[in-house]
Amino acid sequence: MDVVDGSGHPEPVDLARTRMATRAARLGRPPHRPDQPFNEPITMASVYAAGGELEYGRYANPTWSAFEEALGGLEGGRCLAYPSGLSAVATLLDLVGHGEVVVAPKHAYLGSLTQLGDLELRGRLKVRLVDVTDTAAVVAACEDAALVWMESPTNPAMEVADLPAIAAAAHDAGARLVVDNTFATPVLQRPLELGADIVLHSVTKYIGGHSDLLMGAVVVADEQLWTVLKQRRDSFGNVPGTLEAWLALRGLRTLPLRVERAQASAQELVRRLAERDDVVEVRYPGFGGMLALVLDSGPRADLVQHSTRLWVYATSLGGLESTLERRRRWRSEPETIPEGLLRLSVGVEDVDDLWDDLVQALDSARL
Ligand SMILES: *Cc1c(COP(=O)(O)O)cnc(C)c1O
Repeated sequence: MDVVDGSGHPEPVDLARTRMATRAARLGRPPHRPDQPFNEPITMASVYAAGGELEYGRYANPTWSAFEEALGGLEGGRCLAYPSGLSAVATLLDLVGHGEVVVAPKHAYLGSLTQLGDLELRGRLKVRLVDVTDTAAVVAACEDAALVWMESPTNPAMEVADLPAIAAAAHDAGARLVVDNTFATPVLQRPLELGADIVLHSVTKYIGGHSDLLMGAVVVADEQLWTVLKQRRDSFGNVPGTLEAWLALRGLRTLPLRVERAQASAQELVRRLAERDDVVEVRYPGFGGMLALVLDSGPRADLVQHSTRLWVYATSLGGLESTLERRRRWRSEPETIPEGLLRLSVGVEDVDDLWDDLVQALDSARL
């Protein structure tokens, strides 16, 4: 938005100096000129006429760039978009040299842990799993690491890591710190400001926000690292779909609104759940729209997940529809996650409707 129509309008605001909701609403748009659309169009192109900067569809697309400008602006760095969160994970793990050490949370997104396990099995790298809440243990584990992989809050245990302390330890060891910021979103946590080198998102979740696309993104502070990653994306061809990038940008516009609503409802549900004697534990870090309930058995948690009428029994999270699932229904979920743990993703519905449905489902499983 750097050009006005020449009719004496004042200079447009410098969006880099505005606040989160303003940046989400306004970054990544074409210049405001007469007859220009407000939004970056969906550019469907595999090739561009030669002689310019774009050349070929694997290297550049104006719709991706609009999304990347907006998300980069929210996280405070430069962004690259990928076809899924796990595609971005694979690209980042490929930065690790042969046989080098990666520190990672013992509770984390299963797909990330699976990739790490597979790479370790093939001798590509060594994985050191840590309890992210034990900062001293994480710091000690960083000693000879090349990459420190963090999630905070963790999936689905909802643990929080001391990111500034871990960033300092990683840097002392000459390692890079990656933070998977999917759960918190840049609205609530900006890891680059806390010392991280790389932020990763499953855009599929809160940023997309409408359960209708798969996409991933990486945001880095360092220009050189951005160039390395861009060259790899050009070379690997792990580029996002154009329609997905457009939808994800449309979702990003309302990210602060949705996250604030989900967080307010999650906080209210946590307060009410604390009063119930059939809930063994409520795990909530105090912020965000994700929480976990621990019931006293797996079968009881199964009954609840099958009894809700408004909450949708489904995996995934961060959509505007509230969802829940018992995580140990997945065989590869670590055994340190309780059998009776239900992960809840709070959407934007009315909190009293969400509460009423949760109460009837919990009551029906009381027996
Ligand atoms: C979903 C998710 C991923 C993987 O993203 P996809 O877009 O599904 O490939 C990575 N990390 C976290 C925390 C996630 O929730």
